[in-house]
Amino acid sequence: MKRIFSDPTGVLLVLFGVLAVSGIVLLCLAGGGAISRERILPAEGVWNGSERTEELSVNKAFAHVPDYDIEGFITIPLPEGASPDSCEVVQDISHRKTTVFIRDVPKDFYSEHPFSGASGDVTGMYYRYIDGTAELEILTDGILEAETMENNGKLYLGFVSPRECFPRIYVVDPGHGGDDPGHTSNGVMEKDVALQLSLMLAGELSDESHGVYLTRSEDVSMGEEERSKLIRDLEADAVIGIHAEADPVTRVSSGVTADALYGADPVIAGSIARAVSEATGLDIFPGNDTEGCGGALIAGVPCYRVGFGFLTNKRDATFVSDGENELSAARAIADAIRASEEQ
Ligand SMILES: [Zn+2]
Repeated sequence: MKRIFSDPTGVLLVLFGVLAVSGIVLLCLAGGGAISRERILPAEGVWNGSERTEELSVNKAFAHVPDYDIEGFITIPLPEGASPDSCEVVQDISHRKTTVFIRDVPKDFYSEHPFSGASGDVTGMYYRYIDGTAELEILTDGILEAETMENNGKLYLGFVSPRECFPRIYVVDPGHGGDDPGHTSNGVMEKDVALQLSLMLAGELSDESHGVYLTRSEDVSMGEEERSKLIRDLEADAVIGIHAEADPVTRVSSGVTADALYGADPVIAGSIARAVSEATGLDIFPGNDTEGCGGALIAGVPCYRVGFGFLTNKRDATFVSDGENELSAARAIADAIRASEEQ
């Protein structure tokens, strides 16, 4: 997503940077240009120069300064001659955390050129300086996408709700995690298959018109309430729950399942199953397994629950834990979801 802003002097500012999947890195387009000293804010309450992480005073230090700040944005002065890859904005969506890394910064730069501006979404800010890199960590009170623009030697950072960025919002919910392994059979744990496939699906589905968020992106325990909070906060259109199946009785069941839960469209679930089957060669197993996806149930959001193979079947277990097969399935699910939107 790209937006163009213009400032009062008529200089075009390029706004970029909508992050969907946590961990994606954006480069900021830092230009040159000296910063005029008379516009520098007093350092009081901003930063005391210590190298350890410092909490910055949000309310006191971040007053809006006309002609210097842009309403609703945090102003981050950049060192003179900062190169296009001298800063990165990294978002950890599930922890409501945004970190700006500015490289090749003189040690005292931010005591002499403090951050300024104001954003009503910010609940905490922390600064630290390590080996020439300044890090500004920002906590927000909701799930928000960072947007940045650069002009005249300053980086402006603001926040927008995912709904303002994306026509469609999906939550990919890898089942289980942490001390809940899910089904475990033939040396394969369901939580691992679910996470790998989910990470790939989020990567495949995420684009300018699809905001895609993961309930978990690591092997961590996560309750249904916590998952539902994320789903609700995002106002997700649908949840895609990723699991693997088990048949401990016969151990011969095999294939992919896809179910429409909590008001989801069974036709779309059928398309997902067919797409995965065609892409991977797995049969479609007619499933009606409503296990999992409790987060979607609590949030009251439609859910497509995909079961990628039966771990109790040795051939399936080997097949679904293979990265290439997981990628094929992820692409097929993403394609089926996109196709369903055109109907
Ligand atoms: Zn499961």
